[in-house]
Amino acid sequence: MSTSPLIDRRHLDFILYELLGVQRLLSYSRFTEHSRDTFDSAIELAHQIAVEKFLPHNRKGDLHEPQMVDGKVVLIPEIAQALDAFNGAGFCAALCDYDQGGMQLPFVVTQACDSMFSAANAGTIAYPALARAAANLLAVYGTDLQKRNYMQPITEGRFYGTMCLSEPQAGSSLSDIKTRADVQPDGSYRITGAKMWISAGDHELGENIVHLLLAKIAGAPAGVRGISLFIVPRWRVNSDGSRGSRNDVQLAGLNHKMGQRGSVNTFLKFGEQGDCYGELVGTAHQGLGYMFHMMNEERIGVGMGAVQQGSVGYQYSLKYARERRQGRHPDQKDPNSQPVRLIEHADVRRMLLMQKCYVEGAQVLGFYASMLVDFALDPNEIVRNESHQLLELLTPIIKAWGSDYSLKANELAIQILGGYGYTREYPVEQCYRDNRINPIHEGTNGIQALDLLGRKAMLQNGAGLKLLLGKITETCADAAALESLKAPAAQLLAAVELAAATTRAAAKRMAAGDVRLVLANASHYMTLLGHVSIAWTWLWQALVATRALPGANELDRPFYEGKLQACRFFFATELPLVEQAARLVSGADDSAFAMQDEWF
Ligand SMILES: Cc1cc2nc3c(=O)[nH]c(=O)nc-3n(C[C@H](O)[C@H](O)[C@H](O)COP(=O)(O)OP(=O)(O)OC[C@H]3O[C@@H](n4cnc5c(N)ncnc54)[C@H](O)[C@@H]3O)c2cc1C
Repeated sequence: MSTSPLIDRRHLDFILYELLGVQRLLSYSRFTEHSRDTFDSAIELAHQIAVEKFLPHNRKGDLHEPQMVDGKVVLIPEIAQALDAFNGAGFCAALCDYDQGGMQLPFVVTQACDSMFSAANAGTIAYPALARAAANLLAVYGTDLQKRNYMQPITEGRFYGTMCLSEPQAGSSLSDIKTRADVQPDGSYRITGAKMWISAGDHELGENIVHLLLAKIAGAPAGVRGISLFIVPRWRVNSDGSRGSRNDVQLAGLNHKMGQRGSVNTFLKFGEQGDCYGELVGTAHQGLGYMFHMMNEERIGVGMGAVQQGSVGYQYSLKYARERRQGRHPDQKDPNSQPVRLIEHADVRRMLLMQKCYVEGAQVLGFYASMLVDFALDPNEIVRNESHQLLELLTPIIKAWGSDYSLKANELAIQILGGYGYTREYPVEQCYRDNRINPIHEGTNGIQALDLLGRKAMLQNGAGLKLLLGKITETCADAAALESLKAPAAQLLAAVELAAATTRAAAKRMAAGDVRLVLANASHYMTLLGHVSIAWTWLWQALVATRALPGANELDRPFYEGKLQACRFFFATELPLVEQAARLVSGADDSAFAMQDEWF
């Protein structure tokens, strides 16, 4: 069994430098000390550590999942070794300021680095990814002391972090959490409750674990408005920053997962002895808003992580299809002729093209959204505001469309390998299992669809959606100026108009009181806007490829031709699906809504 490249580096460079032009971030004062060379060096270093330290134990981590021994989590030793390399190279502080020991890299470049780690080993990267998200949250909402005691050690790679939202009875509906926080005379809190599904919730990797936990303070308003955010350290931290006594956080059990088995998943109990120390973050009852800061970044991370698994499966099945010979063309009757390679069968090419379209399209959208995060530093207020609105709208699409379709890509990779794909001797089944969590956690994809249609597309009178459709329309206008792209540009423009009309129809119906019925079609709306957005990425790629082809060298020509063909394929086979999705949404289809419990 041979391995394939983690991420197609040519495609990554194409996205970063030919499509997005990330070089323009160098004009921001925060990044003036960077250059394309420093960006590339960071990505190259990430690739090297991913290949040398993360990839080799990807299968071992799957086969030897974490164990609970004498109340402690035991991991395979390679995880700690990989994280030592990761932290030693400074990736835990990739976004941080230089004076905090950070690399001060743009978010989009850190995403490119992360794509290497998550492609190599989705289980192991979960530990620092969660820790970094916790540090980022504290950087914005923590006090100076909280930053010193909890954020700084994470960025130094000494502490890890978690997000403790879910409870056994409250997953999608966080308004129903029961974990309680009682204020103490010294202003700290005592926490009581249980948290379910906590990734990286307990282990011996670092000196401490900083749990960012949602709880309700006694007397808080009901629902999400009564939720506050707390820092709950595994070990208390003394006033001088040194490690204090063990906090009352108990590891109650491990969850045994289908995939990403290297990352431990825990059931935690807080305050079993009545002495679980917690510190309030920010203002009481604002916790969910703060947590969304962490979750939005995590959701882009989840979508991107999913797409990297899709990419690994695609790369592997492509290599396999080029090597394995099987069967002949329908019109080749001679049984003595040599069997053809799988890639020569049109149906195999169809499955490869579907993967290419889903994966590379979603990568473009994910990196585009990551760059919108960096535009928060733009001196122009309009750019900052518009980027924020676009990001709000695109986040559920990247999370849900990215994870749903990269999982479909993994299915197709298995299919291309035939029976071999179904065995553990080949890596594509693990890609699928590792990827299967992504439509579930960080808000299920059903919840993302409700968020998209019920909230994000309607926010500020649909301002984010108008911006997105405006950007797509601009690309259509540019593409229409080229003879070869006139037809797809017109096709996408029609889909944009359909998306706008469908949203108007849904908004009108919801305003008239049909909220439940309209939102019963939210997943179809996700298909509509997801497919339109991905079609945009393909027209954009085709536009850049068309312009580049005349001057392209022999190595680049097939790369650009591949972009054009994939665009043709997506527009022929996938984009037409938006018409059906739009019909269901604007007609407020009630075939699922009207089904009765007892009729099943
Ligand atoms: C491997 C793994 C890692 C995780 N890591 C973490 C973590 O680190 N921290 C953390 O806090 N949580 C974590 N979670 C929890 C995860 O976020 C929840 O599993 C998820 O939010 C869904 O909650 P649930 O499992 O209770 O399912 P439920 O909420 O019971 O949902 C079940 C199904 O019903 C649907 N549904 C629920 N409500 C609605 C609704 N209002 N409208 C339409 N459909 C609905 C859902 O879409 C889903 O399909 C993790 C979970 C797993 C499996």
